[in-house]
Amino acid sequence: MTELQRVSGTVHRTGGGVYVVATADGQHVEASLRGRLKREVRTGGRVVIGDRVEISPSDDTWTIESVEPRQSELVRRGRGGREAKILVANLDRVFVIVALRGPVATTQLIDRLLVLVESSGMHPTLVLNKADLPDAEEVERRLRPLYESVGYGVLVTSAKSEGGLVELHEAMCAGSSAFIGPSGVGKSSLLNAIDPALDLKTGALSKKTGTGRHTTVGSRLIELACGGLVADTPGFGDVGLWAVPPDEVEACFPEFTEARDGCRFRGCAHLNEPDCAVRDGVERSLIAESRYVSYQTLRAEAEENAAR
Ligand code: GDP
Ligand code: ZN
Repeated sequence: MTELQRVSGTVHRTGGGVYVVATADGQHVEASLRGRLKREVRTGGRVVIGDRVEISPSDDTWTIESVEPRQSELVRRGRGGREAKILVANLDRVFVIVALRGPVATTQLIDRLLVLVESSGMHPTLVLNKADLPDAEEVERRLRPLYESVGYGVLVTSAKSEGGLVELHEAMCAGSSAFIGPSGVGKSSLLNAIDPALDLKTGALSKKTGTGRHTTVGSRLIELACGGLVADTPGFGDVGLWAVPPDEVEACFPEFTEARDGCRFRGCAHLNEPDCAVRDGVERSLIAESRYVSYQTLRAEAEENAAR
């Protein structure tokens, strides 16, 4: 096999040992893994959607010869020290999607989702959906300034009335994105509203009958008509199962980074230590109380997971 026969591409779909690779010239081909890569897969190094790979033709099929180093990995960590699972590679951006109503997202849930993304080394944009529902505005007035003050971009959308969709759509047309959030907040509805050709299943009912996208075994990158890619993976819904190493939790709260230089102790956990600049910031309302409470909760959870 000569190097000339190698073609580079991006993995767009995985599942059942088959990988669909989109090549630079826009073709989609099915490929399997070279034996050496298969062994690496068994030791935890999976090939995932978004991976840039080199493939070569062999008889009537293609083989993945190598995987390029990743720019980013969206990781789902297992409970009780179970191995982390990489869900998507090389994402350009992540949207944390929650609902303003029906039911309203708590700050604890939002913070948990933001921390998950931060722990993968990415800075998410927060999307507050279902803005059309009664009293959504009241919730927006509370949540938007809170998260903007932390430094997050916040988009307010409605898949139903199509409010805020132009901005969301435009942000997704270059490179690859992922939506993460609990089920029922409107992730599929937003994608359908942005790009009706997608025709994704929505609503709890269709999911229960087993025809919804959550029953799919594999993961895929969905191609938007405007050229962007969106990750669709099973694994994004159950946010209760995620964890981050305890001493990495504070780094997932961007507004803590400046304050913590002022803590008396290096390695201050910002819990009961004297002269803690983070707790001081909370007392002086420079850091939101709700964010600090989430920090305490997630840190305690992380300690518990690490001890198991
Ligand atoms: P997913 O599980 O996050 O993909 O959520 P779905 O897209 O399946 O939506 C769950 C339910 O919320 C469905 O009944 C949708 O019709 C509804 N829904 C989604 N977006 C909106 C919205 O912006 N406004 C309102 N009122 N309902 C919405
Ligand atoms: Zn401190």
